[in-house]
Amino acid sequence: MNKIKFSNGLEMIPSKIIGIGLNYVKHIDEMKSIPQKEPVIFLKPNSSLHDITQPIPIPKNYGSVHHEIELAVCIGKAGSNIPVESAEDYIAGFGLALDLTLRDIQGKAKSAGLPWAIAKGFDHSCPVSSFVQKDSIKDYNNLNLKLIVNSNERQNSSTANMIFKVPFLICYISQFFTLTEGDLIITGTPEGVGPLNEGDQIEASISDIAEIKTKII
Ligand code: MG
Repeated sequence: MNKIKFSNGLEMIPSKIIGIGLNYVKHIDEMKSIPQKEPVIFLKPNSSLHDITQPIPIPKNYGSVHHEIELAVCIGKAGSNIPVESAEDYIAGFGLALDLTLRDIQGKAKSAGLPWAIAKGFDHSCPVSSFVQKDSIKDYNNLNLKLIVNSNERQNSSTANMIFKVPFLICYISQFFTLTEGDLIITGTPEGVGPLNEGDQIEASISDIAEIKTKII
């Protein structure tokens, strides 16, 4: 099983990675999607985890692979039916994730009403940084996310623009899935998603959490 690492050396094994779709208004617009009354939830398996500092292999011959930079929340203790008021107590820390997406395959699945499992859950589809402890982040609702590909800025926004905020997501998800220590919630991407190609140089950052240079192979 793949582990995630904290900057202080602590390691955890996520039993699941819960993805949130359509959580930024301008990304909903660019996808020509419709805002939803409740969060859109999907899963990525543990096998999708990848150390973002290592070159990231992407699938070939399955159409476009899109980048989605996202704030990742690591759960610190088990819980189900977590009240929104105490949801923050369940956060261990924060990291940077790329929710890599086979966009053509996802598009076909969407139009046929079929699941997104392959489009979202393939091997290496969840590169993550090392994580920082919750207490070292002053305001996780106001962090800048930025993604640069080959010196061109693609994504630049703030977690302030999330539709469903982190405590609500923890409360909502835990009604259906028992959250356990190490589980990750990747909280959705802002606008500017686009294709990646072999050889692309990536600079990804979330303020106070991570500043990474990596490449696509
Ligand atoms: Mg995403």
